[in-house]
Amino acid sequence: MIDVSEEVYSSLRQTFKGDLLCPRDDGYEEARLVWNGMVARKPGLVARCADVSDIQSAIRIASALGIVTAVRCGGHSLAGFSTCEGGLVIDLSRMRQVTVDPAARRARFAGGCLLGSIDNATQKEGLVFPSGVVSHTGASGLVLGGGTGWLTRRFGLSCDNVEGFTMVAADSSIVRANAKENADLFWALRGGGGNFGVVTEFEVKLHPLKSVVLAEGLTAESDIRRLLEHWRDFMAGAPIDLKWNIDLRIAPTTNSIPPSLRGRSVAGSSIIWTGDPDAGHTTMQTALALCHPDSVSSKIISFLDLQTMADSAFPHGRRYYTKSGYFNYLDDGTIDRCLDALVTIPSPETQIELAYLGGAAGKVSADATAFGDRSAPFIMNLLANWSDPADDENHISWIRSAFNQLRPAMKPGVYVNFMSGDEQDRVPEAYHQRWDRMVAVKTHYDPKNFFRLNQNVLPRASAQRSE
Ligand SMILES: Cc1cc2nc3c(=O)[nH]c(=O)nc-3n(C[C@H](O)[C@H](O)[C@H](O)COP(=O)(O)OP(=O)(O)OC[C@H]3O[C@@H](n4cnc5c(N)ncnc54)[C@H](O)[C@@H]3O)c2cc1C
Repeated sequence: MIDVSEEVYSSLRQTFKGDLLCPRDDGYEEARLVWNGMVARKPGLVARCADVSDIQSAIRIASALGIVTAVRCGGHSLAGFSTCEGGLVIDLSRMRQVTVDPAARRARFAGGCLLGSIDNATQKEGLVFPSGVVSHTGASGLVLGGGTGWLTRRFGLSCDNVEGFTMVAADSSIVRANAKENADLFWALRGGGGNFGVVTEFEVKLHPLKSVVLAEGLTAESDIRRLLEHWRDFMAGAPIDLKWNIDLRIAPTTNSIPPSLRGRSVAGSSIIWTGDPDAGHTTMQTALALCHPDSVSSKIISFLDLQTMADSAFPHGRRYYTKSGYFNYLDDGTIDRCLDALVTIPSPETQIELAYLGGAAGKVSADATAFGDRSAPFIMNLLANWSDPADDENHISWIRSAFNQLRPAMKPGVYVNFMSGDEQDRVPEAYHQRWDRMVAVKTHYDPKNFFRLNQNVLPRASAQRSE
């Protein structure tokens, strides 16, 4: 058996400019960890690359030695794909450069950026890149899988705002992908995840935005059914400036929660208005009234506050498990099943997350990118969040049971970034009509499936990369 750390380390160390961390090194314990505490693997070597040539060297050597290799940006893969047992981790966390061109409303960012790195740089110019809702999430994994967030309805998915990628392919060559160069790869990288190579740079469109209106409401158990019925109907005609997410959960016993709701099942509404606050006033008031809220607040907040307000709710190192799906319509039976699941929810941090997509994201045609189905506007994510390994079985079985109850009403398809590690059988479902094109692009750029720690698309067995 190959000793990964020694073989790869001794091959890389002469030329590698970044950090090479083996199990014996100080800093290895911290470097091996990923966000999901359920995934506690021990790679043989973490190669923290300083630049593109480090990435090329790592790929060349690992590929030649046949070593299982993970690629890590923010380490937030719910499935734990950015680490491995005994293999190599190509860690991009030293590559967080962001360059903004305010006049052109464009940015370039490196493959190791967290969402916060991009937000901080673009906000200096009063601009935004539409991304996710937790600033410590990695941008590469999020954008390559699609990328939904507060601005999805207004400006589209993150991947819809990418104009070009630079990637190191499995043969260690550098490939550019945009509308004119390698258009098939450009298509596949917008939703196809980490299947094709290591993306070292993203070229993206930006939009002017400095603040939003945020309204939050807590709805007591007895009114949740009414809230969900109103929400599904209201969102079908809502302006694209409005994003309204709902979490079904147990209210914590903290001072910020009205005493009458503490420890009880609630629906938490977070409603964002991204347009002119005065123009949105009536719509926001209508939405809030539909919450029948026991607790409500409304304020203007900066974009940076919006992007960091959920950070502490999803800390590194806790245990997480998820399952997700789309609905064309949230019918009464589905609402019943959500409410049934809420009765047995295993912990206060666990939640049923509901969002309505549509808007600008829904207008992009189904075959324009590899991203999954855009026609089903309701997306649900069942997310268990706990700390004690003794509670694993309880949380995982609750998610599986709730998912099995809800699945018959779901539209086939799944957002790859919300999948757990035991769902590889759903990857063809995620790409359904786009499957053959995904396989063709995978076969061209990664014929031996070197990049396999992802929502994996297998290359055709006999194909070789044509030059
Ligand atoms: C707290 C939290 C909040 C989230 N919020 C949102 C949200 O609001 N919206 C949303 O859409 N998703 C969200 N997600 C899901 C998120 O999009 C995925 O977990 C995503 O994979 C995270 O990206 P990462 O770079 O941190 O992951 P990593 O674990 O580093 O990598 C994930 C996958 O991407 C691959 N990869 C990483 N970097 C590269 C690269 N440079 N080139 C090629 N492949 C690469 C990896 O090999 C792996 O397969 C959230 C996840 C968490 C944990």
